[in-house]
Amino acid sequence: MNDVLASPVTSLYGVGEERANDLKALGIETIQDLLEYFPVRYEDYRIRSLSEAKDGERVTLAATVYSEPLLRYYGKKKSRLAVRLVIDRVAVTGVWFNQPFVKKQLTPGKQIVVTGKWDKHKLQIVVSEMMEADSPRARRRSELAAVYPLGGSISLAFLRKLIGQALEQYGRHVGELLPPELVQRYRLLPRAEAIRAMHAPRDLEEGRQARRRIMFEELFLFQLKMQAYRRITRQQTQGIAQPIPWEDVRGFIRSLPFRLTTAQKRVIKEILDDMQAEYAMNRLLQGDVGSGKTVVAAIALFASVKAGFQGALMVPTEILAEQHLQTLRSLLEPHGIQVALLSGSLTPKQRREVLDGLQLGLIDIAVGTHALIQEDVYFRRLGLVITDEQHRFGVEQRRILRSKGAAPDVLFMTATPIPRTLAITAFGDMDVSTIDELPAGRKPVETSWARHDQFYQVLEQMRRQLARGRQAYVICPLIEESDKLDVQNAIDVHAQLTAYFPEFRIGLMHGRLPAREKDEVMQRFARGELDVLVSTTVVEVGVNVPNATFMVVYDAERFGLAQLHQLRGRVGRGADQAYCVLIADPKTEVGRERMRVMCETNDGFALSQRDLELRGPGDFFGTKQSGLPEFKVADLATDYKALEVARQEAAALVAGERFWTAPEYEALRDFLRREGILEGTVLD
Ligand code: ADP
Ligand code: MG
Repeated sequence: MNDVLASPVTSLYGVGEERANDLKALGIETIQDLLEYFPVRYEDYRIRSLSEAKDGERVTLAATVYSEPLLRYYGKKKSRLAVRLVIDRVAVTGVWFNQPFVKKQLTPGKQIVVTGKWDKHKLQIVVSEMMEADSPRARRRSELAAVYPLGGSISLAFLRKLIGQALEQYGRHVGELLPPELVQRYRLLPRAEAIRAMHAPRDLEEGRQARRRIMFEELFLFQLKMQAYRRITRQQTQGIAQPIPWEDVRGFIRSLPFRLTTAQKRVIKEILDDMQAEYAMNRLLQGDVGSGKTVVAAIALFASVKAGFQGALMVPTEILAEQHLQTLRSLLEPHGIQVALLSGSLTPKQRREVLDGLQLGLIDIAVGTHALIQEDVYFRRLGLVITDEQHRFGVEQRRILRSKGAAPDVLFMTATPIPRTLAITAFGDMDVSTIDELPAGRKPVETSWARHDQFYQVLEQMRRQLARGRQAYVICPLIEESDKLDVQNAIDVHAQLTAYFPEFRIGLMHGRLPAREKDEVMQRFARGELDVLVSTTVVEVGVNVPNATFMVVYDAERFGLAQLHQLRGRVGRGADQAYCVLIADPKTEVGRERMRVMCETNDGFALSQRDLELRGPGDFFGTKQSGLPEFKVADLATDYKALEVARQEAAALVAGERFWTAPEYEALRDFLRREGILEGTVLD
């Protein structure tokens, strides 16, 4: 860090104790903080022609003084100064309130620039700021004036002046931070110039360039942190180099009842390469609902067992555990691999057996819920851990799981399609594999949008499916205390449907039911003992009921696009055409747009990208737990291309040896040290 820029703001003229405190509340303590306190917007001082000036708006005009000014006083301190001006050959009245001193500047014939509120009908401008046209100030003046967030005793005028002073005194100490090759390649303004132009752009274009430079820098530094962190943890966590028996794996793949998609093959290669390498794998596997992640997991587990290790598959619920158990058994047991369930529903004796089997190495693969990470579970030689629906597991749980083996390879699977932008931001410290292709021959779920007053028509549509022996989901939004009472809840809808369909069996599931009951209702639906399941969103992610072909989502506008898509993935899992009806009366255009997007596309990644654009990154994961960094200037919804570029550049940079030693990267290494990623001496 540049020592000069680390000086406290009190070294500037006009900053005493009170102001220093108020600046601190704004996050400004040093000169550097001040220089990096960027405006939220600009006031426009570009000179307009009269025809462009809109009634009632603030505008800047170039005028010639035409008459002698007329000054009137009201009471003690109030005055009104009026003068006839000529602007674009039109006679206009210029008015100054309570600025009697302006009078002596207004001599007829003088050229001035005035800023103020324009009254089109009176042909009058109430002037708030003015300057003489050929004054040095006017020649220097910027077309755009910065507007900053303020607080306490800090006024806009004061802050502008203070930043101006800081730029003048310290501007030359602002050094370049980005590698020169990047500045050149992307034609970025030098850092010092960009900072100056952020606060006082000469024109719109310069302001744009300044923003582009600062935005790129932010994203690049963020990515540099992530990439450096990744590299260092890799070097430091000695993992297991699993000797993958590639021929056996190929044989196993050939034995599958279907051919893998290209995307599946690609991610399998990425995963197995990672497992074979001597560092510990830390990889996210994302793929749309139905893209075939489970079989990828099975192949990785197969490889690990054949390489001489044990595997664990961790899922969020018992019912998912049972489903995965069946799938894995049918795929792996013919190859002599022992798969066992470790869940809360085991009797103590069964549990003891499984625990012993794991410890002795008699069981190759354990499938389970959180029970898998309890204290008394020991593996003989755990090599691979896979968690499904990763977002439901906390960081702490992942850590415990990791600690069960020496440093097992870990694969996180998620069906929540995360736009790449967010994936590389929120999970920037992980490697990401993406299945971006569905198996051939899938019929997209036919999605439509209905209004609430069409509910009974929708039920008739549903009746046709039920009459053919198919099953249906009706999803209602969760009821929270803050919700208005007019929101129809699952209980009401259940009563309504029970009355409407006396011939069908209607089940109810919501979050207030005890876990056991939830599981039981779900099991009954899965076994076909219920025709319709009315449920809040507790419908398990990943649950597989191929006979369900119809879904109604009640009050669909209350869900995010990603969530709607996730829900929709519960149907269309069999060979038959499936349907999804969204019931919604959205009040906003964004709401209507979201319904249209849902009806138009079945591609989870396209949807989530749209969702990101419509809602912004903060809302995407829901509130605070997103783990997304806050950027001062960059906006993930619009700057995602730059984020991608920044990631590539940062990755390339840290991969090279020069970055860690060459003097020209000292500023960046220093940045990493300050961020706590690099220890003072380790890699120098
Ligand atoms: P996900 O977990 O990604 O939502 P699954 O792994 O449950 O998806 O796969 C959905 C269905 O598709 C399963 O029945 C699975 O057997 C099948 N499947 C997986 N890969 C393929 C493939 N390449 N071709 C055909 N069917 C596949
Ligand atoms: Mg799955």
